[in-house]
Amino acid sequence: MKPFAYLRATETSTAIEAANSQTKFIAGGTNLLDLMKEGVEQPDRLIDITRIQLAQIQPTANGVRIGALAKNSDTANHPTIRTRYPLLSQALLAGASPQLRNMASVGGNLLQRTCCYYFTNNTMPCNKRQPGSGCAAIEGYNRIHAILGTSNNCIATHPSDMCVALAALDAVVRVSGAKGDRAIPFSEFHRLPGDTPQIETALQPGELITAVDLPNSPFAEKSHYLKVRDRASYAFAVVSVAAALDISNGTIRNARIALGGVAHKPWRAVEAEKILVGAKPNEQTFRAAAEAALRGAKGYKDNTFKVELAKRAIVRSLTIATAGTAT
Ligand SMILES: Cc1cc2nc3c(=O)[nH]c(=O)nc-3n(C[C@H](O)[C@H](O)[C@H](O)COP(=O)(O)OP(=O)(O)OC[C@H]3O[C@@H](n4cnc5c(N)ncnc54)[C@H](O)[C@@H]3O)c2cc1C
Ligand code: SF4
Repeated sequence: MKPFAYLRATETSTAIEAANSQTKFIAGGTNLLDLMKEGVEQPDRLIDITRIQLAQIQPTANGVRIGALAKNSDTANHPTIRTRYPLLSQALLAGASPQLRNMASVGGNLLQRTCCYYFTNNTMPCNKRQPGSGCAAIEGYNRIHAILGTSNNCIATHPSDMCVALAALDAVVRVSGAKGDRAIPFSEFHRLPGDTPQIETALQPGELITAVDLPNSPFAEKSHYLKVRDRASYAFAVVSVAAALDISNGTIRNARIALGGVAHKPWRAVEAEKILVGAKPNEQTFRAAAEAALRGAKGYKDNTFKVELAKRAIVRSLTIATAGTAT
């Protein structure tokens, strides 16, 4: 493991002043430390941000603000999140294990790196780890890889469950850096791989995530996070669906669908949402939405099954959401 300096910041300003492109903030450390041990991440300096007062979850005039250092378990179990944003609560509780959720932060979850096996295998080519070296997954074993928004340079997926719910709930990521504060709409926060798979987000070097804002939501009563995985616990999603409906007088007034395990970023299925709005909530409508969501999907050698799996997961998730959010 490469030697690094360690600095503990107690204020946002101190953390930002100490940050540059060779530094890394450390929150729960559940992703970063593994990657440092594997030599994938090699910061010169770690800036410990866990003492900064950024763990509050507070109602705002337009919704709720979740501090970047709020633990995944605290966020999932917070009364405001459970009652007003149960989709987020469900997604968080589907992730990792209780021990990991007790350490993992909201900011760190947003920035966790892919679980592509070749990314952490230093003997294999990987454009994300070493730009220009190639992508071992495209011709290799790619069962867990992406089917939407891929490029010839990378077919990795974003592994987060929490982020799929945040995509569906129109979250906004608040960041601070040397040039000031910014608010980044969730759909613009994570990037598709294109020619630069090593650039994963809209965050500039040295910028600190301070909070995630959620707008008021009409979806609390009818939403569902469905995670299809190889084990019941402690496994990343093969495919996941965050589905949320606002139904009035038997007609869908508003709808959100986001997918996990299928793309380099949490994938918002906007075309599917258009089909749902104004329609009756039944299997025919849901299947049409699922077809629209997966239009343009491209399977690889080992993951073509994900296309139909994702469609079925969408139908199932919408069906469960229609019946009412499980509490
Ligand atoms: C065995 C295992 C299974 C897992 N399973 C799942 C799963 O099923 N679903 C799921 O969603 N996740 C899963 N995870 C991932 C886990 O959720 C993440 O590791 C965790 O959310 C990262 O949060 P952290 O606070 O520990 O981040 P850290 O490891 O501290 O940091 C991660 C990255 O974020 C950066 N960072 C952290 N906070 C900030 C900030 N405020 N501003 C700017 N940069 C920041 C760090 O510099 C680093 O680059 C799993 C992890 C493990 C180890
Ligand atoms: S899919 Fe992306 S992360 Fe995986 S080997 Fe290819 S370039 Fe690397």
